[in-house]
Amino acid sequence: MNYEQRRNHMVDHQIINRGVLDPAVVAAMKKIEREKFVPADLSDLAYRDGALPIGCNQTISQPYMVAMMTEALQLEGGETVLEIGTGSGYAAAILAEIAGLVITIECVKELADRAQKLLNKLGYDNVTVITGDGTKGCEKFAPYDAIVVTAGGPHVPQSLCDQLKIGGRLVIPIGPEETFQTLVRVTRRTKDEFHRENLCGVRFVPLIGEEGWHRRRYKSGSKPGLITAR
Ligand code: SAM
Repeated sequence: MNYEQRRNHMVDHQIINRGVLDPAVVAAMKKIEREKFVPADLSDLAYRDGALPIGCNQTISQPYMVAMMTEALQLEGGETVLEIGTGSGYAAAILAEIAGLVITIECVKELADRAQKLLNKLGYDNVTVITGDGTKGCEKFAPYDAIVVTAGGPHVPQSLCDQLKIGGRLVIPIGPEETFQTLVRVTRRTKDEFHRENLCGVRFVPLIGEEGWHRRRYKSGSKPGLITAR
């Protein structure tokens, strides 16, 4: 099968078969060439049902996870969306097919630069990649219709709640462990009222930052790791 056939097969079997039916999400997943967002030596695995390494100890998420989280944002088209965790830029491209403007924040500069370059090359002039700690959001473009966090944190960052529009949705993996979380959707009903729903169990790399997990300080002879949240 060529890439287009593999992509259509992936969408039918991994996305639609598992219940992601939003036509805009399905169309975006059928359009975006995931093989362009993975390292060249892994492009043959681009439509496998899983995450793949992208360097810098990070991953491009499983296609189903991208589709399911995008659907959970309940986008209708034209929105301003904030993504935390640009990674390869793949999910940002999916969002950009539906939303009007996508701001995406990545804390690893090498990944942010690479993603911005690729997204520019592919013609996504409605995506802005920012290097920094996404747990604080990005005031400059706030408020947002939707916010999606593609790394797992210990709690819902207050800064992200503050930057949601009334009626806006925030989708984020939250959990006490560093590798297993509950995918949570927070909907801002009024200025002070936030409705929280637990969607499903997920596994994500850790959200590292001021309102996320904190890196353990290096000690000689020890490996870097993570400690509890604030
Ligand atoms: N959405 C990405 C894609 O489509 O390729 C996959 C994201 S990967 C699972 C999670 C990313 O979150 C990593 O690239 C990691 O560096 C980033 N990350 C972790 N903590 C972050 C933070 N506080 N701010 C911004 N990015 C963060």
